[in-house]
Formats: sequence, C-alpha cells, structure tokens
Amino acid sequence: MHPNAVLLRGGTVLDVDGERRADLRIGRDGRVAAVEPALEPEPGETVVECAGRLLVPGGVDVHTHLHLPVGAVRVSDDFLTGTVAAAIGGTTTIVDYVTAYRGQDPMDALATWRGWAEPACIDYGLHMTFTERVPERTIAACVEAGITSFKLYMAYPELLQVDDDVIDEIMRATRRHGAFVTLHCENGGAIEALRRRALAEGRTGILEHARTRPAELEAEAVARAAALAERAQTSVYVVHLSSAPALAEVRKARERGIDVIAETCPQYLYLDTSRLSDPDGESYVCTPPLRDPWHVEELWHGITTGAVQTVATDHCPFTVADRRAGLRDRTSGFADFTEIPGGLPGIETRMGLVWEGVTAGRITRADWVRLCAEAPARTFGLWPAKGNLRVGADADVVAWDPARDQSLDAEALHMAVDHSPYHGMTVTGWPDLVFARGELVARDGMYVGEPARGRYVSRAQPAAFR
Ligand code: MN
Repeated sequence: MHPNAVLLRGGTVLDVDGERRADLRIGRDGRVAAVEPALEPEPGETVVECAGRLLVPGGVDVHTHLHLPVGAVRVSDDFLTGTVAAAIGGTTTIVDYVTAYRGQDPMDALATWRGWAEPACIDYGLHMTFTERVPERTIAACVEAGITSFKLYMAYPELLQVDDDVIDEIMRATRRHGAFVTLHCENGGAIEALRRRALAEGRTGILEHARTRPAELEAEAVARAAALAERAQTSVYVVHLSSAPALAEVRKARERGIDVIAETCPQYLYLDTSRLSDPDGESYVCTPPLRDPWHVEELWHGITTGAVQTVATDHCPFTVADRRAGLRDRTSGFADFTEIPGGLPGIETRMGLVWEGVTAGRITRADWVRLCAEAPARTFGLWPAKGNLRVGADADVVAWDPARDQSLDAEALHMAVDHSPYHGMTVTGWPDLVFARGELVARDGMYVGEPARGRYVSRAQPAAFR
C-alpha cells in the first residue's frame, strides 16, 4: 500500500509547532517520518516539489451526517460520496453522528452506522446520540467501542429531545467513563409553542423556520447547558453555535471557569437569514437557522477571541427535489415550513471557506489550522494521530495552494447534491494534493485514492478527561 516513501520538498509547514520552511517526509508506514529543513531524498523515495504550498494537517470535521434517513428522504451524500468530497476539499478525518432512536438498542444503531460507513474513503470516528435515558453500561460499551462523545438534543421533542434530568444523568455518567456530552442547544419546548402558533395563524412560509427559532432560545439553552455542566463538574461541547446571544452565554460560562467548548459552522460565518426569502429559500433551511448579518460578525469575533474553538460543518445535504417534496411521503410538496428537511452541504468547502477568513484578514493562518484540524482532533480524542504533523502522526497532509481559485458552484464541487449554498462565490486557496495516512487521495480536485480505504478510528478519551 505504501510502495514508496514520499518527500514533500520546498513547502512551508504549518501546524501546532508553528509556521516554518521545512521538508516533510512521509514514511512507508503512512506516518510523518521527518519534518526538517533541507531533507535529502532517500533511494526509492518519491519527491514532490511543494514550493509555494502550505503543508498542513488534514482537516478534521467533527460534525457530519452521511447516509442519514430523515423522514421520507435521506441525506444525499453517503459515506462514499461524502468522504470523497471531503478529501478533495482537504478534510481527511470525520466524526459522524450515530442516532439511537427511542426504543432502539444503541449498539444496534452503532452496527447500522458501521455498515453504512464501510465505503468511507477517509478515516472516520463516530459520536453516539441518545434520545432517551440509557443505562450506564451502554455508555461504558460505547466508550469501549471507541466512542468518547455523546450527543443530546435540547430541541425536537417529538423525536430527539431529552429533559434536563436525563442530560444531568448522562453528563455525570459519561464523565465517569472519561467521555463527554455534545449538545444541540435550543429550547425545544418554547420553539414548539412558536411553531404551533405560527401554523395556527396561517404563517407557513419558509421564513417562519427562522422566526420560530429565535436566537434568545438558543442562548437560553446554552446557559442551561453550562449550568448543568457546572453542576456535573464536566465539560460540555455546544454544536453549531449560530448567534450572538448564544456566544455571549458561552463567553460568560467560560469566564466563570466552566469548560464550555463551542463549535460553529461555515454557514453561520457566511450566510444570513435573508437567503430564506430567495426563490430557492428552502435550500437554506438549517437548524439553528441562519441569522441576521450582525450575528455573523459576532461569530467571527468569537473565533478570534477563543470563545469559539472549532469549525465543523453539520454536513447534511438534501437535493432540491427532496427539499421541495418535504419530509412526508407526498408528491405535492411540503405543506408548511415544518416539513422542509433541514441541513446544508459543506463537507467539501469548510477548509476553503475558513481560509477565506485568512484572506480577509479576520483570522491568522495558525487560527485556521487550529479551528479546522488541531482543536477538533484534541477535543475528540483523535490526538496525537490526527490534527498535527509531528513525527509519528498519521501522514494526513494537505499541500494547500493559497493562490488557487475554486468556484463554490455545485457543478465545480463533488458532493452528491444539486445546489450549493455558496453558488456564485469563488474562494482563493484550495488543496493541490491531499495525503491520508501517506496515500495520495486527492490531486487537483480529483479523488485518486482507493475506494473504501478509510478506517474506523477508535477514539481515545479526550485529553481534558484523562
Ligand atoms: Mn447535526
């Protein structure tokens, strides 16, 4: 599988140890063998000239939904197409969310996901989502299987939401097993009331999706999550933070010494709620919803001040036809905003979009690597194999061309979806070459690796819990 060692020569290495001119040797074992200035090629070694390129750790996207059935439809990317697109965009590891629905044995759900994930082309870990109280032995069994993070929802009472007593219980139990909880923070009960009122008053349009999920109800849930984590003396990870008031609650909690870790997503850094009024407004339905532009500015600020620590995608694509058909099995289209399958594509475009923040002068190159690779790898127990380029780490290496233009139109991308939330936008900065465990998997926007080469990553306990 690794006939040759590879020497990446003449580039600039950028990772946790800083930015410096160095050559990088990928060993025959698929790991980083050396990072030093002026390495001499060894016999039989493939030499790749990387002048003008940044050599960075492969992206780590810790929030994806591939293959997922949602109502009468399914997300349009499976583990094959989704991971191919990820690799092309510079992401070499994902952590996807398993959901154990009420009444379902979580270990059965895990087996289902493991089956779906077999075609994966990059390494992948899994989180486990509980939708009801579970015995502690289930948490122990998941940790044993390499799942060291557990998702709970504070919203979607019909299907997913759990009450605060269950959150408290699972936070304490996961902590005992060296694991922690990630939370979807929105006040589900209050949102239900708003949705029911909107429907009763005949307000059924797409914009109501955002109006019935106001930022205040995200902020309330973040504050509650922090209080619960403080009582349980544990860390908590807030997924897809979308708004300024919610960010303020993260900041307040962190100032009080509570380990609230916040993730945001590119859609909250680039898109705003005005898109819901576009003719293709249904294609911008996601949860939490897109916010007004001032929230976007605040989130960038949160990134630069360290209150937001990771950028993941919540990749959850649907075709236009599936969005327009709605969640129920019907041909006449969705009846109201509550029936639109929510979620956006993004697994391929995350590295490029966050890099745009570098180009725009909002963040540094080091911030980019930290947000997209290092912090997610550390937080989710993928470190030190992933998220850095130290000797011995997996040779997940992206040769990033900061001058390369890439259109974000759907036709120029590889996700199995027929629209792009960023259509009309071109980013400058995109991968030239992507290596995963030392294998060249993407070159010039094409997937060139073996199919199904990805491996399940049994995750260690996050550093904070050891
Ligand atoms: Mn999600």
